[in-house]
Amino acid sequence: MKRICVFAGSNPGNEPIYREVAEQLGKHIAQMDYELVYGGSRIGLMGSVANAALQHKGTVIGIMPTGLFAGEMVHPDLTKLMEVKDMHERKAQMRELSDAFIALPGGLGTFEEILEMVSWGQLGIHQKPVGLLNINGFYEPLLAMVEQAIQAGFIPANQRELLVIDNDPTKLIEKLQHYQPPSKVNKWSELTD
Ligand code: AMP
Repeated sequence: MKRICVFAGSNPGNEPIYREVAEQLGKHIAQMDYELVYGGSRIGLMGSVANAALQHKGTVIGIMPTGLFAGEMVHPDLTKLMEVKDMHERKAQMRELSDAFIALPGGLGTFEEILEMVSWGQLGIHQKPVGLLNINGFYEPLLAMVEQAIQAGFIPANQRELLVIDNDPTKLIEKLQHYQPPSKVNKWSELTD
């Protein structure tokens, strides 16, 4: 693993623990000599993780769609700012550049980004680990939704292993380092291979 992509809320959330753990994650990424790839913003938990990585002399690559976000949103101290055409190109670049993905708590943008990475893992488009930093049990409802979809026959049971989960940044990264993709199963119950 060389680069870790972090998806995170563009808001800080209303409990200090979200920012604290985002900072721990940024610090740990830098101290482990991983490069941070993220959306390039200076606000919210996105800004917190980037600031912490930069404070600990980490390399931080921000990927921003040209013109989509107002200029003052862009983090002024990035190691590298990559301007891309649109959100699709941004996610494609994030996927190409990164060796693992982590979602901090966030909103719809964060959900969309991390779920695309998991569903593409399921389809075998990539084999990279996807982790949820489950601060304060933030991701429990999403995990319950996945379990419900397994029970209802929409997700093969072993695909729950696509999601690596921990509430501690150090332990989560350790798990990502040892990740083995779940064995291939027939995803479509109506089709025999
Ligand atoms: P949300 O969880 O809805 O706050 O959205 C966060 C995710 O959407 C981030 O991982 C970004 O990729 C993208 N995003 C949302 N707002 C911004 C912003 N102001 N600057 C850069 N990226 C953003």
